[in-house]
Amino acid sequence: YIEFQNINKFYGKNQVLKDISLNIEKGQFVTLLGPSGCGKSTLLRCLSGLEEISSGRIIMDGKDITNLEPKDRNIGMVFQHYSLFPNMTVEENIAFGLKMQKKSKEEIKAKVDSAIQIVELEGKEKAYPENLSGGQQQRVALARSIVQQPKVLLLDEPLSAIDAKLRKSLQNSIKQIHKDLGLTCIFVTHDQDEAMVMSDTIHLFHEGRIEQSSDPITMYTSPVSQFAAAFIGNYN
Ligand code: ATP
Ligand code: MG
Repeated sequence: YIEFQNINKFYGKNQVLKDISLNIEKGQFVTLLGPSGCGKSTLLRCLSGLEEISSGRIIMDGKDITNLEPKDRNIGMVFQHYSLFPNMTVEENIAFGLKMQKKSKEEIKAKVDSAIQIVELEGKEKAYPENLSGGQQQRVALARSIVQQPKVLLLDEPLSAIDAKLRKSLQNSIKQIHKDLGLTCIFVTHDQDEAMVMSDTIHLFHEGRIEQSSDPITMYTSPVSQFAAAFIGNYN
């Protein structure tokens, strides 16, 4: 359903993605796992169209999207730092993209209300970001993406700035949204425990290459290399 074919990406002379090929099935929850600087965010930015690839092709639903504009890809993205508009309320933040698309007032209201329910922010509609917790702000960022009804949701370390306890509950929210909306999710983290509990499939990255692709249990019990074993935390 999403197919990366031999993706290479250079920043100047620095090759940050090295012949990446992988397939992501519709409706899956897929995690890109790996240490800092291994190319996870770059791959997501290439998929969403924020970044051009140097060579290779990206196919989605049988269609070559390699050269499509970001807005024509139907992909939503949530970032590590929430990047909400500070001078807009929760509902205005969520509605912003729909307003830009000149949707009717009624349609915007219905969609925003439904998104607020999904991320469990009822009662916070009129609040400003500065009066929300980090976790609540990240829920607004999630709502802002899902209100666009993307086919694919990219989540780039959305929980890394959030404390451990709240993190658990947001992990559950994200999984629930994935299930309820039937989305394909590509989730980036450098936290192996988070990858273990969240994913159908984990793609473990190492210096711009994919070291191993498998389900969490297999990754844990049968790491293909010392790097994989050490990163997953199975030293046996
Ligand atoms: P982290 O876990 O720290 O977010 P990452 O796996 O997401 O790491 P990327 O952000 O994809 O890593 O970066 C991969 C490599 O590409 C790094 O070496 C980084 O320095 C380099 N890089 C990323 N963005 C740029 C850019 N805009 N210009 C030049 N080099 C870049
Ligand atoms: Mg990153």
